[in-house]
Amino acid sequence: MRIVIKIGSNLIATEEGLSEKRINALSSDISEVHSMGNEVVVVSSGAIAAGMKRLGLKTKPRDIMHKQAAAAAGQSGLMWAYEKSFSKYGKKVAQILLTRDAFFDRNRYINAKNTILTLLSYGVIPIINENDTVAVDEIKFGDNDQLASLVAGLVDADRLIILSDVDGLYTKDPKRYKNARLIERVEDITPELEKTAGMSGSSLGTGGMYSKLLAAKKAMGFGITVNIINGNIPGLLKRLLNGEHYGTEFQPKGRKVSSRKGWIAFGLRSRGSIVVDDGAREAILKKGKSLLPSGIVTTSGNFSSGDAVYCVDKEGKRFAKGLTNYSSLEIEKIKGHKTSEIEGILGYKYSDEVIHRDNLVILEG
Ligand code: GLU
Repeated sequence: MRIVIKIGSNLIATEEGLSEKRINALSSDISEVHSMGNEVVVVSSGAIAAGMKRLGLKTKPRDIMHKQAAAAAGQSGLMWAYEKSFSKYGKKVAQILLTRDAFFDRNRYINAKNTILTLLSYGVIPIINENDTVAVDEIKFGDNDQLASLVAGLVDADRLIILSDVDGLYTKDPKRYKNARLIERVEDITPELEKTAGMSGSSLGTGGMYSKLLAAKKAMGFGITVNIINGNIPGLLKRLLNGEHYGTEFQPKGRKVSSRKGWIAFGLRSRGSIVVDDGAREAILKKGKSLLPSGIVTTSGNFSSGDAVYCVDKEGKRFAKGLTNYSSLEIEKIKGHKTSEIEGILGYKYSDEVIHRDNLVILEG
């Protein structure tokens, strides 16, 4: 089985900086899972928390420069701690730092994927973090929960396991409410559930339960099972993989999306949208057809050919996402027209389809 394990800052860092004891405990558990014959990719936060200690900062910096300085100072300490712990169990690790733009471009996406798969073929445990030092808003994942879900899609993982400092997803914040109840299984991430997950932020990490839910939703979209379990309890990982139930399990509804379609749906950032009429919507959803100019009502946003855009219905509901062959300016000229008229209007034609069905992904829900 191929597993992505996400470790949050709260699990391995305290106000005192990195906890080597905690890193060692987790490395021991992960090594065991690896020795069971699984391929394991770790996504670990903790660089900023570790760097804060090194730079003598008492609270998490808010401005980007100090955050990046802390991340740079902390990342080497983080890897050093993992190196030491994993080597005790005879495991080799490798560092991979990614920014969101690794997912924007098909070649870079494939490259990142191949590097990770090659490391796995050598029995190495890749340890991935965001490349905080260079990541500005435009190329940020936001938080490591999102990074972990995209990585899970990237490597075609069978499982994404998010280690948290609580037992799983609760009906309320368990740290504040005694009557909070653990939600054991989730098949559908409904708006109510998103509300439930609330905004339970934490001081060291970036993502709370809400961001874990969004990450789970993405991974489920790739057809990957997601577990949120308590990373503070030794041995839980192994027991989970042996079939015992812990924490919250998110079960995707069937089909696994191809890595290419997953990349379009979740990896790429949308640059705008195309509003289509009911006929085109039906043709795409029910018959798996391409999007042609005749079914287009209008566009929103400024996008170029090759960009990812949403297809939305007349009510504004997104139902598909794809790579457009024409820019928003071009589409504004050819919308509502027959395919045979494209060349007459533009003076050239890239293709009959505005979005070819091979580059079009239906969005769930
Ligand atoms: N990449 C950040 C770090 O290593 C953490 C981001 C997160 O926790 O989501 O400190």
